[in-house]
Amino acid sequence: MKVDPELPIRILLVDDDEVDTMAFERALRKSSLVYELTSVADAETGFATLLKQQFDCVFLDYLLPGTDGIRLLKDMREMGINTPVAVLTSQGDEKIAVEMMKSGALDYFPKSEVNPDKLSSVLRQVLRVSQIETQKRHAESALRENERLLDIVFNATHVGICLTNAEGLFVRVNQAFSDILGWSKEELLHHHFTLLFKEEYHQQARELHRMFMLQPLGVVPDEWVLKRKDGQKITLSVSNSLYQDDRGQRFVVSVLSDISEKKKTEEELLEAKRAAELAAKAKTEFLSNMSHEIRTPMNAVIGLTELLLQEPQNERNLEYLRSIKYSADNLLVIINDILDFSKIESGKITLEHIDFDFYKVADEMLKTISHKANEKGVALRKSISPRVPRILKGDPYRLNQILLNLAGNAIKFTSAGYVELSVELLPEQVPGKNRLKMSVVDTGIGIPEKKLTTIFESFTQAYTDTTRLFGGTGLGLAITRNLVHLQGGEIHVSSETGKGSVFSVELDFETGHLSEQELTNELPTTKRSLQGIRVLVVEDNKMNQFVAKQILQRWDIRVTLADNGEKGIEALEEGEFDLVFMDLQMPVMGGFEATELIRSGQRAAKQRNIPIVALTADAFLETRQRVTKYGMNDFVTKPFDHDELFLKIQRLTGRSS
Ligand code: ADP
Repeated sequence: MKVDPELPIRILLVDDDEVDTMAFERALRKSSLVYELTSVADAETGFATLLKQQFDCVFLDYLLPGTDGIRLLKDMREMGINTPVAVLTSQGDEKIAVEMMKSGALDYFPKSEVNPDKLSSVLRQVLRVSQIETQKRHAESALRENERLLDIVFNATHVGICLTNAEGLFVRVNQAFSDILGWSKEELLHHHFTLLFKEEYHQQARELHRMFMLQPLGVVPDEWVLKRKDGQKITLSVSNSLYQDDRGQRFVVSVLSDISEKKKTEEELLEAKRAAELAAKAKTEFLSNMSHEIRTPMNAVIGLTELLLQEPQNERNLEYLRSIKYSADNLLVIINDILDFSKIESGKITLEHIDFDFYKVADEMLKTISHKANEKGVALRKSISPRVPRILKGDPYRLNQILLNLAGNAIKFTSAGYVELSVELLPEQVPGKNRLKMSVVDTGIGIPEKKLTTIFESFTQAYTDTTRLFGGTGLGLAITRNLVHLQGGEIHVSSETGKGSVFSVELDFETGHLSEQELTNELPTTKRSLQGIRVLVVEDNKMNQFVAKQILQRWDIRVTLADNGEKGIEALEEGEFDLVFMDLQMPVMGGFEATELIRSGQRAAKQRNIPIVALTADAFLETRQRVTKYGMNDFVTKPFDHDELFLKIQRLTGRSS
């Protein structure tokens, strides 16, 4: 409708009286209005004109030839022509005029009052009213549009939506809501929402609903476990919010989706994860138990072989014994590999952070493989850049393991030429840390290119006949790579078949602070004797008892044996000792328990402070920490390293010079 004062007001006058028409035109001309007037003399022409043209206002004489004014007005409205109409009446026609107002006219006034002022004021009023009417119609239509849209969204969404009123009755539910819960809309509408809950929860649900009505809390997410009408259990994710309409009526709007599948998948995943963890744990435990079980008799074999090797033997026996020792050592390496691998897999590896002599680690490692290298006629080379600091801080045991694995492989797969360990210092990557590049170079058989990426996988070997020719489990490189990664380093390989391989490891180490002197622990060169020392060996395995006794007696130690922790404590209560070797796993009473009883003074109180050395199967940090926690002074791993054993006894009994 027209609001712009510049545009002419379009007026239609329907009047059969020429004099009245002229008077109307005159009055209009004299008004200050800008207008466009169309006059017609009868209702039919008026209606036809209205159908063709748009007008802002119709002035209608109610008394017309043919159809009267009321008819025309009704026809207009039926056709949806909402142009405002003002009725022109003759004197004393108020009744009819009121009738016309009821049919939709906006105003009426007698023809005698047609003058410029009256027309201006009537037009202004008519236009204002009609403007308001139009706005209302627009608003209503927009509202209807919104309603329609809301309705479409409401029913098309897969999310269930419902409105419950203050009494808790469903006043609106969408299709999805009814589908999710299995109740038809009719069954839900105007019924109490507790219909969805088991009887025992009704009270609680009503209370929550009441509280919610009283106290708007914003959108409140929740999770409900309900039964559908057919009894099937479902889990719903629900968010409730409070809605208050214009009249102040409150409703709870609940939006919910069925998350039963998601929940089920989540639970299945969790269950699968638990099962996988259990299986992994079982595997690790099995592996470590098995390797432990195998290790115990292996220790006896190795220990006794070593003792026999130190005694005079004829050449043939010596050869046999060396073979036994060689095979037993190899077997032990494999067992240790498996144990290590399972520890790394289960994340049980803890790294050392101690000062060590890097040059010594390198030398020791090379010494370990030198025998093999000599046997095969392969030269061993070492080239360490003088820029590499001697004392570093980190895990020397793991470093040794890494280098030994690589160098061991290099010797294994090289039959002529050399194996070289070369070490250089790379530019700093982590501030304050020395980045070492340690390469093991060999001139061996090499590795085919397509195998280069897979050799680091566990149980993988480059050649199918490797196992037959060279032995091995295919675990060495997997362990090596894991150990390198565990320390934040990198490992690379390059190789050419028939020419050789280069395995390079990059690792960061802090510079250590201990002096070389503090790190060395040289062995005395004179004949070893620890005469007068009394040692109690608490160990259940007869072979191990025997081996330990043989070794210790060779150093003139007085050895007493006890079969388990209980017997050990009894021995301590009866006799005098300088040192106890304590196995950890024993029947009746284990080593940890026995040590605890001794240290707490509950048993053998007089020997409360006696040095106790654990006999362990492995040297892992966890084991050592546990050993320390229980108050033991030190540990030795089986099979015993004679030198290490000697030094430890010497130190703990105060016999070191
Ligand atoms: P294995 O116990 O079989 O030696 P590793 O994981 O240590 O297991 O090595 C995997 C495979 O990688 C070996 O079987 C061998 O085929 C190949 N390999 C490793 N190092 C070398 C090397 N220096 N030269 C040639 N082949 C090598």
